[in-house]
Amino acid sequence: MLLELKDVTLLYGRIQALHGISLTVGEGEIVALIGANGAGKTTTMKAISGLRPVAQGSVLFDGDDITKMRADLRVVRGVSQSPEGRGIFPGMTVRENLEMGAYTRRNRAEINEDMDRVFTLFPRLKEREKQVGGTMSGGEQQMLAVGRALMSRPKLLLLDEPSMGLAPMLIQQIFDIIVEINQQGTTVLLVEQNAQQALSRAHRAYVLETGRIVKEGTGQDLLTDPAVKDAYLGVA
Ligand code: ATP
Repeated sequence: MLLELKDVTLLYGRIQALHGISLTVGEGEIVALIGANGAGKTTTMKAISGLRPVAQGSVLFDGDDITKMRADLRVVRGVSQSPEGRGIFPGMTVRENLEMGAYTRRNRAEINEDMDRVFTLFPRLKEREKQVGGTMSGGEQQMLAVGRALMSRPKLLLLDEPSMGLAPMLIQQIFDIIVEINQQGTTVLLVEQNAQQALSRAHRAYVLETGRIVKEGTGQDLLTDPAVKDAYLGVA
């Protein structure tokens, strides 16, 4: 397993956001986390990227226990998060934002290679290379956030709501790109409100409810599960 969470609990002060989350992500997989608002999806991502300490349980990555590892060192190890709400650097150009994604790396040739790869995946970013990030459209900023996360050449790419705020055409496109990134060898863990798209593209998925995993299965199984359909797919 590339990633394994064992019985992870996480607190925000006195609020317990995660109640013993256990999940795995195998090398080469796309795994989706779905669930209602406040279910704990973003919090689970934070436990993995190290943006928030876990109270109990463990996070194993690529053979190591990273439960207490600093967030920046996890990036060096190969975990990269594209945050919810984009979180790009608004005052920097597109190229500078992408450079920031590679700040832990030193090999210029490889960085340039990855920059080219990001520009191939997202031609719009190439066209807007010198534009200031904050003036890009919402969808373009979303692409920039994903591109920046790729610039650390991660083994595991964590995507928090990559389709948020995107027009229907762009939603298809961003999911196509996620599949392409995965086929090029990057493992993906995806948090999504858009359960239909997420489940149809993911190999496996977990359903979260109030900080607990209540269901898991292949994307296809969950797509046809009556309870999942009812609660998350908007069809009875
Ligand atoms: P959404 O789909 O709305 O983004 P989510 O499943 O990602 O939801 P989380 O953001 O993980 O949900 O939140 C899980 C729970 O933890 C929620 O009840 C939320 O209010 C709470 N929470 C999140 N961040 C904090 C914080 N910084 N302080 C206190 N409570 C928090």
